[in-house]
Amino acid sequence: MVETAALKDLLAKPKQIVVTTHHKPDGDAMGSALGLYNYLIQKGHNVTVITPTDYPQFFDWMPGNDKVIIYTEQTEAANTLINQAEIIICTDFNALGRINEMGEVVRQTGAFKIMIDHHLEPEGFDDWRLWNTAACASAQLVYEFITDVMQEPQYINKDVASCLYTGIMTDSGSFRFPSTTSSVHRITAALIDAGADNAKIHQLVYDNSSETRLRFLGFCLSEKLTILPEYHTAYIAVTHKELERYDIITGDTEGVVNFALSITGIKLAAFIVERTDKIKLSLRSRDEFPANEICKRFFSGGGHRNAAGGSSTDTLEQTVEKFKSILPEYKKLLIQ
Ligand code: 5GP
Ligand code: MN
Repeated sequence: MVETAALKDLLAKPKQIVVTTHHKPDGDAMGSALGLYNYLIQKGHNVTVITPTDYPQFFDWMPGNDKVIIYTEQTEAANTLINQAEIIICTDFNALGRINEMGEVVRQTGAFKIMIDHHLEPEGFDDWRLWNTAACASAQLVYEFITDVMQEPQYINKDVASCLYTGIMTDSGSFRFPSTTSSVHRITAALIDAGADNAKIHQLVYDNSSETRLRFLGFCLSEKLTILPEYHTAYIAVTHKELERYDIITGDTEGVVNFALSITGIKLAAFIVERTDKIKLSLRSRDEFPANEICKRFFSGGGHRNAAGGSSTDTLEQTVEKFKSILPEYKKLLIQ
């Protein structure tokens, strides 16, 4: 691992930089990546944000969004940029498998690799890292990177602040998860002081649904929600046909799982959805229940203790059965 002084030297002169984040980026992924973009361009670097896949349209308003390259849509241009980059910054993920086929392209380049992340068990592809699993969002770490590591708080302008605010707001569940410490609120206050319009950002991200998205949510809650009282567990399983019936696009299923977890007494909630290539699971849990352990052990995934994800190549029905079959082993923890 390289010393921080050497990192600062490296960033002292304009460089070719690629910033990337995990596939199907969420608010923290886009907020962290675009927060870094808006910081680094002020220092004269030549920066491109490359996302492995597309992302929800309710992040399209973010400053710098029009310059983002989506790997699956502009693969050749993205590969050229990755291969020419002197520095690659990876944020909100810590294993190259999380950026799909782009991962191997990143792995083989000689670029200096920086990781800024808050997930467990980093793979170790990086040359320098700012890594803290206690951080509520990678955007919190990006803030600390700019202010504490680089000691350049003067670069937290309205654009940087708006992006980082979005990351913290979305990954902290609108400031309600236990990771939302007083220091997170202090950082958030500093971001508002720097120009982040908190009410507007909340509206742009959360009150920006299509009619079909809302009707789909209603359908999930009235027709698809299954509660397993014996295990304090609730799940919603949705077929590909049902996604098509509601014209579901990237981002439309985000947050559905939280409604299942909001039921009194529910300790574990799952949203299980049949995508074109595989079954995707989103798990959320309360307190000490390790949702990430279930994802890691049974669904080739991972994440945080209370918010994790994974996938399966079985059918939707088989995946639901597998999920249910796991619960007896965890019963003690679930009914605590
Ligand atoms: P979501 O349910 O919103 O897709 O993901 C919740 C959390 O779980 C995210 O913070 C993400 O880091 C993690 N996660 C989701 N899917 C996967 C996966 O397939 N593998 C790993 N390692 N983590 C995942
Ligand atoms: Mn995150």
